[in-house]
Amino acid sequence: MIKLEEINKYFQTEEVQTQALKKVNLHVKEGEFIAIMGPSGCGKSTLLNVIGLLESPSSGSYQLDGKEVADYKESQRTNLRKGNIGFVFQNFHLINQLTVSENVMLPLAYLDLSKSDRKKKVEDVLDRLKISHRRNHYPQQLSGGQQQRVGICRAVVAQPKLILADEPTGNLDSKNGQEVMELLTELNRQGATIVMVTHSQRDANYAHRVISLLDGEIVTEVENEIDLF
Ligand code: ADP
Ligand code: MG
Repeated sequence: MIKLEEINKYFQTEEVQTQALKKVNLHVKEGEFIAIMGPSGCGKSTLLNVIGLLESPSSGSYQLDGKEVADYKESQRTNLRKGNIGFVFQNFHLINQLTVSENVMLPLAYLDLSKSDRKKKVEDVLDRLKISHRRNHYPQQLSGGQQQRVGICRAVVAQPKLILADEPTGNLDSKNGQEVMELLTELNRQGATIVMVTHSQRDANYAHRVISLLDGEIVTEVENEIDLF
């Protein structure tokens, strides 16, 4: 599903150039659950953003479902993301002025669906992730764990094949973090491919494979002893 080959990514700020990714090679099969670990600033978010078509690599090849996308322009990347890739963020990224339902409905705005189909998809995902009793609440009225549940609902409502999560438990206490990991595992069992950045070894234990980055390079890859598929 994902084939990154010899990916380099440079950021140029006024005086300094940073190389955030160095010759990264990574293949992810459909249905896999991958964890990315490593110290702060080692390029984890950059790697996730390249995979999620939020950033384009400076050089190298990126094949997503067999298509070369490394040279895609912004508009092409945006089009390909819609409905295909769901993001979950550490700080939830919910819109405070919108209710839970309205937040979760956002990714559906770009899809060709009737209003009633949209509502149904939102209700289905809220039920599935057990947050429908909060559908008319605003994000500030929810606990952190509930907000992340809504964040996951929004990431999966369009039924993307690929879910990307950047430290999804980073702002949660241990119990809520575990619940979020169980939800992601469940979505993976139902067929979603997941790439997750985490600081937590406990979270990484849920993944099939753990990739460690150091200074923009993949330094180790470890298979966890859990059944694939
Ligand atoms: P991590 O997620 O592992 O903490 P990042 O991928 O966010 O690391 O960052 C990797 C490196 O790239 C860091 O040195 C960071 O400062 C730099 N970097 C990330 N994004 C940008 C950007 N938009 N502009 C300039 N430098 C960036
Ligand atoms: Mg990061």
